[in-house]
Amino acid sequence: MQTRMLIAGERVAGQGESLAVCSPASGEVLTHISEASAEQVEAAVAAAEQAFPVWRATAPKERSERLLALADKLLTHGEELAMLESANCGKPYAAVLADEIPAIIDVFRYFAGACRNLNATAAGEYLPGHTSYLRRDAIGVVASIAPWNYPLMMAAWKLAPALAAGNTVVLKPSELTPLTTLRLCDLLADIFPPGVVNVVFGRGAEVGSPLISDARVRMVSVTGSIATGHHVLAAAQHGIKRTHLELGGKAPVIIHADADLDAAIEAVRAFGFYNAGQDCTAACRLYVHKKVYEHFAADLADAVAGIKVGTPREQGVEMGPVISAEHLDRIEGYVERARANRHIECLTGGNRISGPGNFFQPTLLAGAHPHDEIVRREVFGPVVSMTPFDDNDDVIAWANDSDYGLASSIWTRDIGRAMDASARLQYGCTWVNTHFMLASEMPHGGLKQSGYGKDMSVYALEDYSVVRHVMIKH
Ligand code: NAD
Repeated sequence: MQTRMLIAGERVAGQGESLAVCSPASGEVLTHISEASAEQVEAAVAAAEQAFPVWRATAPKERSERLLALADKLLTHGEELAMLESANCGKPYAAVLADEIPAIIDVFRYFAGACRNLNATAAGEYLPGHTSYLRRDAIGVVASIAPWNYPLMMAAWKLAPALAAGNTVVLKPSELTPLTTLRLCDLLADIFPPGVVNVVFGRGAEVGSPLISDARVRMVSVTGSIATGHHVLAAAQHGIKRTHLELGGKAPVIIHADADLDAAIEAVRAFGFYNAGQDCTAACRLYVHKKVYEHFAADLADAVAGIKVGTPREQGVEMGPVISAEHLDRIEGYVERARANRHIECLTGGNRISGPGNFFQPTLLAGAHPHDEIVRREVFGPVVSMTPFDDNDDVIAWANDSDYGLASSIWTRDIGRAMDASARLQYGCTWVNTHFMLASEMPHGGLKQSGYGKDMSVYALEDYSVVRHVMIKH
């Protein structure tokens, strides 16, 4: 198992505190890895700073070729990486291999193409005797901080646009799930010049905080909790750094009486519980029209009760454990507090599963009110709430009455109603008659406290670059 970091092109062991990396499915310690010391964080930033002038000046074609080479390597090592990811996160191996690895490869391929098409177009004489044109240039050293729910995919979403745009990067994976990112270091070291990509391992306060606070870091990108977003903004304020924040979500799913209810049930079963609900776009906050509520609730409960929970390599497993014992306690707390409300009925699940590992039953809570904690707060676990509605304006208002603004969906056969809702929902994404579908060409990112950074698409390239004006007097 690879446990060394990547600093200035060298694979190096951490010199800080040793941390246990555990299997969420069994609780076993998979390995111990030493955190980066303060000197190593400093060395990683120094290497990125030193590599920047040469990397930023490379032709897009060269950056593109290196990103494509990385995509090819990821394809070759797909099974190995899926194995590591599923062991470290507890996810079903088959899902990582079929869903995540191809999407990760596609992100590198997309940005390999997109960086060759990045241009700033305005050119003209806006003052007499002067010609102006625009450049789109790299920013400098980017510190990228990734979460534990999709470790390799989040590394890809951060590395690909940053490198494509000509920046150099110091990436820190979550201390809970570093294994695929550390293995990625081997592939990166073969492809990119020393210092262009650096990876440091460790906890947020010990390693993340000094990294984002380093004065040489010009941009900080984080996917994580709102609390971490606050830390990033505080650190960025000192150096006036650019920030790219992808924080949590609490996706509303509005199901009208005229919707294809079987399709909606199938989607909620799949995408309310994908990755054990540890997904910031999870279909977790249902509003169902009163006319179909009872029937929908009964059918959805049956569907959810049939989700196969198990360890990563079990045949047919659909849902794994949650990431840690602490997170399991947090999820259980949300469900217990919800069930203490007389008006909430637990239609299926509701309990942790005894035995080794951090397993919680797929849970459906019906009858929740719009202001209940279970409707307003991000549980980030296999828990879906249902709230009945009968007025279109009410349900849009309830859906929008949230601190979060990442993703939403509406289910109806009425195209006018779908168009109206899509215009009024205050979310970075609204799906119509589907949920959770992503494409590398389309931006992923939020509004409100979900943050404002865009991942994927040409908008990510814009986030990771800066527009500059050049004016020539003649
Ligand atoms: P987290 O905020 O606890 O940790 C995320 C990362 O930030 C980790 O690498 C952690 O070490 C680091 N970190 C923590 N404190 C830090 C500090 N003071 N300075 C620098 N780095 C620090 O979040 P998590 O528990 O790993 O991830 C779950 C959260 O991420 C959820 O809220 C989820 O919704 C959100 N998330 C959002 C998206 C999105 O696209 N919007 C995607 C995935 C996850």
